[in-house]
Amino acid sequence: QPVSRRRPAWLEISASALTHNIHYVRALTGTQRVCAVVKANAYGHGLAEVVPVALEAGADCFAVATIDEGIWLRDFGVTVPIFILGITPAIYTPDLAHYDLIPAVSEVNWLKAARQYLPKTEQLQLALAIDTGMGRIGFREPTALAEAIRLIDKTEGLELKSIWTHFATADGPNEAYFEKQLKQWHALTDDLPIADNVWRHVSNSGTSLWHQQPHPDMIRLGAAMYGFDPSQASLPARDLQPVLSLRAELVYVKQVTAGSSISYGATYKAKEDEWIGTLPLGYADGYRRALQGMEVLLPDGTRAPIVGRIAMDQCMVRLPGPLPEGTVVTLLGAVGDQRITLEELAEKAGTIPYEIATGMGQRLMRKVV
Ligand code: PLP
Repeated sequence: QPVSRRRPAWLEISASALTHNIHYVRALTGTQRVCAVVKANAYGHGLAEVVPVALEAGADCFAVATIDEGIWLRDFGVTVPIFILGITPAIYTPDLAHYDLIPAVSEVNWLKAARQYLPKTEQLQLALAIDTGMGRIGFREPTALAEAIRLIDKTEGLELKSIWTHFATADGPNEAYFEKQLKQWHALTDDLPIADNVWRHVSNSGTSLWHQQPHPDMIRLGAAMYGFDPSQASLPARDLQPVLSLRAELVYVKQVTAGSSISYGATYKAKEDEWIGTLPLGYADGYRRALQGMEVLLPDGTRAPIVGRIAMDQCMVRLPGPLPEGTVVTLLGAVGDQRITLEELAEKAGTIPYEIATGMGQRLMRKVV
């Protein structure tokens, strides 16, 4: 999939916003380490764009979802620790060791298999996942957990780097479930026979922004680093700055007569003679079909509606007049003091900001600004 560099449609990644967010949450939590969560192409923002800025802003390590994302980071030149948050099949243990990636471990059987696959001369660092109520991955039983620790202790080449859990409701008003998970975390891990230098990390953005930090070692920061609100405004506002903007130029402007239809299904009919601009991006770029009727920002900060169905690679905007081709339109981001947020797009599309951000197409050009 080539990046469409000769098409006037692009994402902007604000280095100053990303830097602000990392500094802000670091100060807010007092954490010793910030682990920048850059899975799914840095939440759609672009790995190659986000990683250097995050490092410059003081990120101490990275978290990804898959081993391939981790290998990509190593090939890119990243030397700080890299955690893999999802499960990696044990047959890839040689690659984990070779690229110095830290897999999430959920089962004793995985450890036994990894031990078989680990080349004699290699070291493998491990992060034990604890399921305290997320119900996704991780140890749930004290006996299995104790067995895993014993096995790591007695196996040459295996080293325990961290122990962690993930909260299901840290970004919602349901305090009770958060407290229940926290209690379970303490019950399962407080008395474990592990060294003091094993990092304990439990905080995602929601936990970092709205809770006391259970451990000072490290937070795993996704949404808040990218400047969007994981709680969808259900919890108090925080001083985060949105990192991502999506802009495109009008590539074709025409006047249509009253009654003319626009786009597939002829769902939109001009009520009067109207000026219509065409934008060179569509749902294949992550500007979802459900965003029909959403507005965009014109250069003077006024809003103009997307009319007719959003097509795979193009969509149309009703303009207030004959704007010149080449005019820059903002689909996400700020123009002066006006702004369209990921939250607003998500609400219109009936989803969450995470899904809009990660859905941004591979072929969109990404520029750090
Ligand atoms: N930690 C784990 C295990 C995750 O799966 C994620 C993201 O889903 C995060 C941290 C980061 O979450 P957030 O983007 O809400 O900060």
